[in-house]
Amino acid sequence: MNPEQHPGLHQLSWPEVKRAATCDSSTVVVPWGSLEQHGPHLPLGTDGFFAEKVLQQVLNLLPPQLPIWWLPLQSLGFAPEHQGFGVSFTQQAETMLAQVEAIAKPLAQAGFQRLVLFNGHGGQISLLDVAARQVHGRHPQLGVHSWFLWDVEGLLELIPEPEGREDLHAGLAETSLMLHMAPELVQLERAVPEPPPAPPPGLSLEGRCPSAWHTMDLSRSGTVGTPQRANVALGATLYHKLVQGWLTSFTTLLQSPWPPRRSIESSDRI
Ligand SMILES: [Zn+2]
Repeated sequence: MNPEQHPGLHQLSWPEVKRAATCDSSTVVVPWGSLEQHGPHLPLGTDGFFAEKVLQQVLNLLPPQLPIWWLPLQSLGFAPEHQGFGVSFTQQAETMLAQVEAIAKPLAQAGFQRLVLFNGHGGQISLLDVAARQVHGRHPQLGVHSWFLWDVEGLLELIPEPEGREDLHAGLAETSLMLHMAPELVQLERAVPEPPPAPPPGLSLEGRCPSAWHTMDLSRSGTVGTPQRANVALGATLYHKLVQGWLTSFTTLLQSPWPPRRSIESSDRI
């Protein structure tokens, strides 16, 4: 990852990092992935690849004066739901909470004002939410955001039915996006359709009244969805929506004082 206008924090010397931290609205973003099976047709590093590449393009498009720096991709994630398909890596939840703290603490101490965890893996949304809440509690002056790559307004509406409903993992959306971004990483001839079972009315695997699903409960190939109709056109549409959506969110964040943080005086009063 090497956006043209915004350097990574690790590419600066320590006096430069010190200066960056004291900029008004200074913000650091960390792309976060996971090394986990993505069916027989996509690579293990799919989630991190998407998070990093979309973030890179967003950073390319952000005006250079905006105070944002980034750290390298954290490629090892929390993915116990994908165990059992060859080699799948997962962190312990406690390790990952500690890892977020290890990143946040020095940033907060240096004076950075915001940390964005830019996450590509759906299975660790809630863990990163917990990490963000915990870290903000320890470092109240650091605004902490846990953002999920696919959580862009209007994005899911672009995925046609019935695939949209069935697309939990390595299905139409992820396969199409990879066909657009890196077709050499897709082995479409190996893709196996395995849509998830339909839940009883009002219940779900994800969404309202969800279940803690593991892929082995649902699939023999590791795919939970129907990737065989994946196509470059849909991938391009998803990619542009992702980039535009995140460009808007990052621009809004960087031009605002968001999120609200307690003042020193108000914590003194309590
Ligand atoms: Zn994932």
